[in-house]
Amino acid sequence: MKIKALGASGSEMPGYNLPAFLIDDELLLDAGTIGLSLSYNRQLRIKDILVTHSHLDHIKGIPFLLDNIITKNKTHSVRIISGTDVINDLKKDVFNDRIWPDFTKIPDRKNPALKFRSIRPSRSMAINGYRVYCERVNHLVPAYGYIIKGPDKKTLVYTGDTGPTSLLWQKMAHFNVRCLIIEVSFPNSMTELAIKTGHLTAALLKEEIEKFANMPARIYITHTKPQYMKQIRKEINALGIKNIEILRDNRLITV
Ligand SMILES: [Zn+2]
Ligand SMILES: [Zn+2]
Repeated sequence: MKIKALGASGSEMPGYNLPAFLIDDELLLDAGTIGLSLSYNRQLRIKDILVTHSHLDHIKGIPFLLDNIITKNKTHSVRIISGTDVINDLKKDVFNDRIWPDFTKIPDRKNPALKFRSIRPSRSMAINGYRVYCERVNHLVPAYGYIIKGPDKKTLVYTGDTGPTSLLWQKMAHFNVRCLIIEVSFPNSMTELAIKTGHLTAALLKEEIEKFANMPARIYITHTKPQYMKQIRKEINALGIKNIEILRDNRLITV
């Protein structure tokens, strides 16, 4: 699997895009950034979008991707995959013909630009050669972490936004994980805010890692607040964990 970080930041500012990870061109993991990072043709190659939760910083690219699809290519469609609760919120609060058009009936109901499919923690799903598992994580709204096994059987795990959690780690224990992308949003001095808002600090990350049955081969940090990047980098380095890296936009990872 080749994973490109289209964005890996917890806030948007020049040089810091919101979370989105493109897997082998066709599968997108969260969608905070699409049009700012991919050419028009590459946008149209995206078939499926796994969404961790409904927060704007993880879905912001989708409305504009749909607009781009409709503008030129009326035959392409994308599928949003997430938990039923997340999908219901997106239907009700985003693609509702008020905030943005309901693209499940554009150009027409038979051939819409947007489709939804729900995934449940109890069942894995096959997506174009990938096997995807999900598990609930700990955030302010319903949120899911994903385990993705590629056609080459290599496994990637992505937490999305989460505070201290456990179910995802229990599921992860059944896999030989090559790459874990996990969030660290705040510096240790903001632990109280991190806990309150369902996020991690470097110190909280260490506690999560202590729950792992097996250590992933590599750990990549995402969702870092750029305002605190220096401090967070220092605190991550101080953990002394091998093969850990803070992701930056456009980083290409081969799993
Ligand atoms: Zn969030
Ligand atoms: Zn977020």
